[in-house]
Amino acid sequence: MANEFVVTPWEVKGRVDYLRLAREFGVQLITDEDIKALQELAGDVHYLIRRGFFYAHRDLRTILDRQRAGLKWALYSGRGPSADLHIGHLVPWMLGRWFVDRFGVEYFFEMTDDEKFLVKEGYTLEQTNRYAYENALDLIALGFPPDKLHIIIDTEDIKYLYKIAVRVGKKLTLSTIKHTFGFTDSTNVGAAFFPTLEISVAFLPTELYGETVPVLIPTAIDQDPYFRLARDIAEDLGYPKPSTIYGKFIPGLTGEDKMSASNPDSAIYITDEERDVKRKIMNALTGGQPTAELQRKYGGDPDNCVVYKYHLLFQESDEKVKRIYEDCKVGKLLCGECKAMLFERIREFMKEHNERRERAKDVVQQYRLSTKFK
Ligand code: SF4
Repeated sequence: MANEFVVTPWEVKGRVDYLRLAREFGVQLITDEDIKALQELAGDVHYLIRRGFFYAHRDLRTILDRQRAGLKWALYSGRGPSADLHIGHLVPWMLGRWFVDRFGVEYFFEMTDDEKFLVKEGYTLEQTNRYAYENALDLIALGFPPDKLHIIIDTEDIKYLYKIAVRVGKKLTLSTIKHTFGFTDSTNVGAAFFPTLEISVAFLPTELYGETVPVLIPTAIDQDPYFRLARDIAEDLGYPKPSTIYGKFIPGLTGEDKMSASNPDSAIYITDEERDVKRKIMNALTGGQPTAELQRKYGGDPDNCVVYKYHLLFQESDEKVKRIYEDCKVGKLLCGECKAMLFERIREFMKEHNERRERAKDVVQQYRLSTKFK
């Protein structure tokens, strides 16, 4: 029986077949040629792309061609702000930081506090707005220069988006929105209007600069429906089509394809105490043998191991990752030691992150779009 899975912006269910998903969404896979082109322009390629975590795209080459020609482009991504920020949320933002560093581009970042309020039960608008500020600290903590990162908070910065959103809204029928996002007659009308705002930011740099500024959107592949719609209507509205680069989901430590808020042990939260991080990692699902003796004899299966996937995401050193892979295969590395190494890496990552997050509290306003564009 075919592997069944569901991927929408709000739901990921089943074992995701990423190649099939790319085919079904009609997106292109990142090829060796694309990587070579990036390497030539940037001088190196971020490990998240080299290791295949970011694996698909729409029109990445258009952006690279602009870069080669010295023409302007920008980055765009966003976050539905809520309390449950886990370390996996930082991964696409880390790639955003790399693009900013290598190409000196501006990064437009939308905090969709309106969307979280509209689609999620149990949140007040005041809470989602507060989380927008909390999550902004985590973004800033990744080390962006203030003149390159522009944070938009939907409920506070609507003046930048509204004129674009009404034009977008006029191009999209209710039936398109229902079909694309799986909305029903009982979906609230606020949620039905919201996609116009997420699409609007893709066109905002062109409006702000009064010239063609296409965006590249690094995000998880479940966001594709928004940007497929944006691309469909862009040219009719006189805007450039957005390009995208898509990542896979961060696997849950307990074996799920995506970290899940409903199972707190599947994810490491930014706010977790060190002892909880350790417990979660030490209990993570591995591809190891049932006993140390068998592991030494037959080796483990890193290709089917969540711990190894986390090493791939958070260990920058290619050499270290390669050694873990090879030592696991031949039974030289035991899962306990491997998990301890991962814990050390995550502990160090979180310590640095939380120190920088603390410092970010004094400088949030410098990163607001509204501080820089009147
Ligand atoms: Fe996974 Fe590491 Fe065990 Fe290998 S040694 S199966 S990579 S936890």
